[in-house]
Amino acid sequence: EHVIGKIAAGEVVAGPYSVVKELVENSLDAGATKIEIEIKSGGKSYIKVKDNGEGMGREDLLLSIYEHTTSKINDFDDIYNLSSFGFRGEALASIAKVSRIVITSNNGSESHRLEAIGGKIKSVNEYPLVEKGTIVEVYDLFFNVPARRKFLKSEATEKRYVVEYVEKFLLSNPDVEFIFRADNEIIYNARASNLEERFKLIFPEVKEYTLINGKYVEGIISSPNYHRKNRTGQIFFVQKRFVMDKMLYYIFENGYGEALVDHPYGVLFINVPSKLVDVNVHPQKLEVKFSNPNIIYSDITRTVREALKKFVS
Ligand code: ADP
Ligand code: MG
Repeated sequence: EHVIGKIAAGEVVAGPYSVVKELVENSLDAGATKIEIEIKSGGKSYIKVKDNGEGMGREDLLLSIYEHTTSKINDFDDIYNLSSFGFRGEALASIAKVSRIVITSNNGSESHRLEAIGGKIKSVNEYPLVEKGTIVEVYDLFFNVPARRKFLKSEATEKRYVVEYVEKFLLSNPDVEFIFRADNEIIYNARASNLEERFKLIFPEVKEYTLINGKYVEGIISSPNYHRKNRTGQIFFVQKRFVMDKMLYYIFENGYGEALVDHPYGVLFINVPSKLVDVNVHPQKLEVKFSNPNIIYSDITRTVREALKKFVS
């Protein structure tokens, strides 16, 4: 299939933010209700993700940093699971290859700690982790790939990328508690809540907003009085997966009509049956194609326009 060729290009760890993304996704996959994220020097020297999920036993732990590629790719969810890596099942292996990784995990009956350097396992020992869950620590990303390390951005920029990704997780998983620290400073301490609370936490400057709920779209949007010079206040998800799609931004703003100044805020969750989403998306470009776009686009514009009536005095 054409899908496979497109994916091969993305076989590398993009940087600290993609490590954070994969680790947090694993925590969510493990059913975590509380996730703690920590980075140091923009994630270049240290990244930690701690969760209270299912955990891993000794065997799972050993397997976790080996590639366990699945090549069955059928729909949007499958392709999206490829994320920034070659195939599903390679994230931890890919990260381990270019870092020193320490994974500590308790699955409720046993508790171990694994250490690997450049993908080679150095030790696996019993370790007294008291609570069920997993801690993944990634030290010195790209220590063994100087060319990649050199091309990382400044600490401040890499940190900003991570912050932006963490904000996406905060918005798409409001029922999960998140604590996020960067260089020992607490950036977010977000108890489990709801979308509105999370929106207020991330965009405290927005004083007029409304929840929206259409056939294919739900979320929260600002009144036209609140806007930014760029689209950093527009965060869209398809089936809870973050997408960056020019057409969707355009369609969303279209709902505000002619008088629009700059870019309003909107956190949109587009939910369509998987079979109506095309698999022809590049995992890194985050674009999405709907097989029947007009139905979805007009629903978004109409839902936004309807909701905005509440701000007209
Ligand atoms: P994938 O998530 O696609 O299966 P990964 O490389 O991201 O591949 O993870 C490999 C495996 O390690 C997962 O399938 C899971 O079994 C295990 N794993 C990774 N992180 C965690 C975690 N935080 N909690 C429990 N299990 C985990
Ligand atoms: Mg994963």
